[in-house]
Amino acid sequence: MRPNLLDPLFVPITSFTGIGPKIAALIAKALGRESADDTRAVDLLLLPPHRLIDRRNQPGVAYSPEHAIVTLKLHVDRHQPSPRGKGNVPYRVFAHDETGDIALTFFHARQSWLERSLPVGETVLVSGKVDWFNGRASMVHPDRMALAEDIDNFPLVEPVYPLTAGLSPKLLQRAVDSAVAALPDLPEWLNEAFLVQNGLPDFAAAVRGLHAPRDEHDMNPNAPARRRLAYDELLAGQLSLALVRQRIRKLQGRPVKGDGSVREKLLEALPFQLTESQREAIADILKDMQSPNRMLRLLQGDVGSGKTAVALFAMAACAEVGGQSVLMAPTEILAQQHFATIEPLARQAGVRVDILTGRTKAKERQAILSRIESGETKMIVGTHALFQESVNYHDLLLAVVDEQHRFGVHQRLRLTAKGAAPHMLVTTATPIPRTLVLSAFGDMDVSRLTEKPAGRLPIKTVTLELERIGDIVRRLKDAISKGKKAYWICPLVEESELSELMSAEQRHAYLAAEFGALVDVVHGRMSSADKDRAMQDFKTGKTRILVATTVIEVGVDVPDASIMVIEHAERFGLAQLHQLRGRVGRGSEASSCILLYKGPLSETARARLSIMRESEDGFRIAEEDLKLRGEGELLGTRQSGAPGFRLVDLEAHRDLLETARNDARYILEMDGELASERGQALRMLLYLWRRDEAIKLLRAG
Ligand code: ADP
Ligand code: MG
Repeated sequence: MRPNLLDPLFVPITSFTGIGPKIAALIAKALGRESADDTRAVDLLLLPPHRLIDRRNQPGVAYSPEHAIVTLKLHVDRHQPSPRGKGNVPYRVFAHDETGDIALTFFHARQSWLERSLPVGETVLVSGKVDWFNGRASMVHPDRMALAEDIDNFPLVEPVYPLTAGLSPKLLQRAVDSAVAALPDLPEWLNEAFLVQNGLPDFAAAVRGLHAPRDEHDMNPNAPARRRLAYDELLAGQLSLALVRQRIRKLQGRPVKGDGSVREKLLEALPFQLTESQREAIADILKDMQSPNRMLRLLQGDVGSGKTAVALFAMAACAEVGGQSVLMAPTEILAQQHFATIEPLARQAGVRVDILTGRTKAKERQAILSRIESGETKMIVGTHALFQESVNYHDLLLAVVDEQHRFGVHQRLRLTAKGAAPHMLVTTATPIPRTLVLSAFGDMDVSRLTEKPAGRLPIKTVTLELERIGDIVRRLKDAISKGKKAYWICPLVEESELSELMSAEQRHAYLAAEFGALVDVVHGRMSSADKDRAMQDFKTGKTRILVATTVIEVGVDVPDASIMVIEHAERFGLAQLHQLRGRVGRGSEASSCILLYKGPLSETARARLSIMRESEDGFRIAEEDLKLRGEGELLGTRQSGAPGFRLVDLEAHRDLLETARNDARYILEMDGELASERGQALRMLLYLWRRDEAIKLLRAG
């Protein structure tokens, strides 16, 4: 239950004067909230202005530059109302200061209001833009007017908030003011010493400061008010992730301590030697799983580094103790591929593997479900279907979630909610920089595969203008005649799956004219049976060129494919290009990647392509990507709908993130239920930043 103290901040914004349902909907949109109902005062309270208007320039009438914003202190001389019945003639108010005269000009203004605002004989303050015409100064509709004695209510620096079309800045400002006025006296959730040491204000002062910047310095992410709120935001995030983690850990993790028998047989069955970093990762994982705490580990490894094998050994340890494990892939194709890799190996080690996806036929499904329920099947590969209601595990010990960056935190929670409390291993090929791991996943343990399997050769990457497609076709002919295989990736088409598909089919037709039946195509609209067949034919070598949309982006493995052509490479992001390129260079043969682009290139596109030419290092590419595109995109949080930050700027607040993580950990170590006085205050923090989902975990645990 939300503490009553916070009630004033959780009133719907429609309860503010002047805000009806329509305006509320616009504000909700400007704030990125789902609906007007769900938009509360607190959301306005923590909305940072993104720039400011500076009205401090007070040059006097005669020295006011054309169209610049100035504030003038004027003596009001006389009013000249619009003539009766001639509303289109403006109402003018003549005024002066010691430097000169000015006409304040109003269209369709109410006389009574103007007489009150600008009384003849009084000194007033007005602010706005000055126009000069034939040596005369005028100001049309001043932005602000006040009697000189009200100067305290005349902010010379004004915050400006992000707007949506149709929403007036004044209205939004008024709504923000109402929210700030509603701010109750809240207990402090941060450490007093920490605040003093870092020169940070208390929450109320920070909120007021946020909305009343005095100058540009106050807009800096590291201005005290912003820094305080950014820390709050980070702490709320870290605390909620830590709560999730605490809960995952608390659920009676079952120590898994196999005798190594299955792993031994696997080692014999494997056609290769594990790399040193694969062995290390497996050791990390087994160590985690042997402890009574639940494992929550991220396995990072560049494309082609061999994450599947690592996962397989963890799964094998579960089979050794008679338990089950699942491997969840983000797509049908990938699930099929994992199954094809794992099943023969596991079979040789005497372990039964099944596959379960949304496409599994009803009859087969029944059989598989009952094998899962009886515990006969020890390893299950699949898609989201693995976590549907109808699936009952006999004894689920481990869940491996492949290519995590496609999944959001929500899915992870759902997966955990599946009754059982499996150890969790999350794999990702996106080499996420540490700051991002922290902010998105919280304090997760990380294993990294830092080396590629032995014998891999570097991939030669070139960029070429699309016009030269004829050259590529000739080179391909030569390569194919030498028995090579190539992927041909069709362009990403904004917003339209249909046109993406069309471009793939067109390219298929174009290449088929040259290569006949050696070319095939795979795209998202094909039935999964057709996709499988296409992938299979390419794998076996029946076809040699596979035209594809980005459906093959993640994880597909055909080790002897050695050429990657990416059409309209300028439309892809760096991470995606790197992923795609990682489909080749997996065998012992030298590989190449041809990035076809259509000019003229934008600055960013040019930078992306040249990074691709220069580097194959996933970490370097991820760092560059972060610089070029910002963190949301890199993590794929757009797809998963995870909320971005409001005040946090990961560049500027990197140091705070580390502190917030430690703080969150310490807090929960001392007070796991957030029951102490500070704990109660911290619960408020979670509500303020809309992280209260995590609070539910407290009692449910
Ligand atoms: P990713 O990390 O991208 O998921 P995969 O697990 O799909 O990579 O492995 C890529 C390829 O490398 C597969 O063909 C796999 O069989 C092979 N592989 C994995 N580990 C090794 C190894 N230690 N030595 C040689 N090849 C390996
Ligand atoms: Mg993989």
